[in-house]
Amino acid sequence: MPIADHARYCEMLQRAHKGRFAYPAINVTSITTANAVLRGLAESRSDGIIQVSTGGGSFASGTLVKDMALGAISIAEHVHRVADRYPVYVALHTDHCPADKLDEFVIPLVEETERRRAAGRPNLFNSHMFDGSALPLSQNLDIAVKLLERFGKDDLVLEIEAGVVGGEEDGVKASAAAKLYTTPEDTLEVARRLNAVEGARYLLAATFGNVHGVYKPGHVKLKPSILKDCQDAVVRKYGEAARFYFVFHGGSGSELRDIHEALDNGVVKMNVDTDMQYAFSRAVADHFFRAYDGVLKVDGEVGSKKAYDPRTYLALAEAAMAERVKKAVEELRAAGTTACR
Ligand SMILES: [Zn+2]
Repeated sequence: MPIADHARYCEMLQRAHKGRFAYPAINVTSITTANAVLRGLAESRSDGIIQVSTGGGSFASGTLVKDMALGAISIAEHVHRVADRYPVYVALHTDHCPADKLDEFVIPLVEETERRRAAGRPNLFNSHMFDGSALPLSQNLDIAVKLLERFGKDDLVLEIEAGVVGGEEDGVKASAAAKLYTTPEDTLEVARRLNAVEGARYLLAATFGNVHGVYKPGHVKLKPSILKDCQDAVVRKYGEAARFYFVFHGGSGSELRDIHEALDNGVVKMNVDTDMQYAFSRAVADHFFRAYDGVLKVDGEVGSKKAYDPRTYLALAEAAMAERVKKAVEELRAAGTTACR
């Protein structure tokens, strides 16, 4: 199917919200990893979200160029080109963008979408995240409101974060004193400010002890009940229509019962990055260990062209990552839920 348009994307999110399932939002950094996501979604008959981070965009533009917006455009163009060969709907999103990188990442991407719209072409991305979690909430929301006003005209959905996801992603480390649990008061303030923007469509990354990266069991204390407290508070104050659409960050390595409780409390998008990185690299390592003397020229031998052709191990990695995508889809209760018939 072609990339979901705005109406389709909003409908996807609504169906997940109502049906208590979520879409995996998988970080990609290359054509191969994007193809792995498409394959995994297609094979599990689930719609889903492909996302690019600032670091992923920079990498995708080439290690000499390092232009985060250019690389993100390049990946998005590829996905637009191939998506209609897969029988599912896919949306394109950009991950964490702090305030000081907006001008380098999100704004050029929004401008690209605006150019495309002016020429009668579809949006480049469906949604972008602004991560103002390092700022005081009022400043975070000042910027979010400005973005949301522009996004409304462009049929773009905004993702924001209140509270701080722990751990480290793309070299951005949360401070030890960071606020790892969002409060109902914080989310009421989010609703008060953002719901006042006409035509606002936004997703909220509320934090309930989530940590980026993977840790041994017991290290992370998730409290998905916090999400329910936030929903109850907003419904009490603003009515049923104000119910939040939550995003689950730092979900790699989570217990299934915590994931399901989060889905029951309104999570519609779960970011999965670290587990995908491992699935991809594990397949490469497996090939290199098994075909050691084919990949390398050992003791004056010539190796084996078949073994060191990057396609050989990248195809294995694509398949392994696709399998991990299918597992994520299962965990998120999204298998077989595609709106594509
Ligand atoms: Zn995150």
